Amino acid sequence: MIIGAINGDEPTVRFNLNLNCTKCGKKVPGGMLTSEKYYGSYSFMLEIDNFKKNYLCGKCRDKKRINEKIPN
Ligand SMILES: [Zn+2]
Repeated sequence: MIIGAINGDEPTVRFNLNLNCTKCGKKVPGGMLTSEKYYGSYSFMLEIDNFKKNYLCGKCRDKKRINEKIPN
């Protein structure tokens, strides 16, 4: 998964996040990629924070997609 934007041949950083699904709590190891410039910056921290807060595992994401198809 890519965090932020990576421009052309910019140097990149690979890192791992310990993600927990916000719905079922399942632990998912996340292999992430970002640009070297962005890594560790304030907006990077915010984005990671936000990403974690909204993270859904594959199963819950599928369920959500199915639920969204059902009209109320
Ligand atoms: Zn889940």
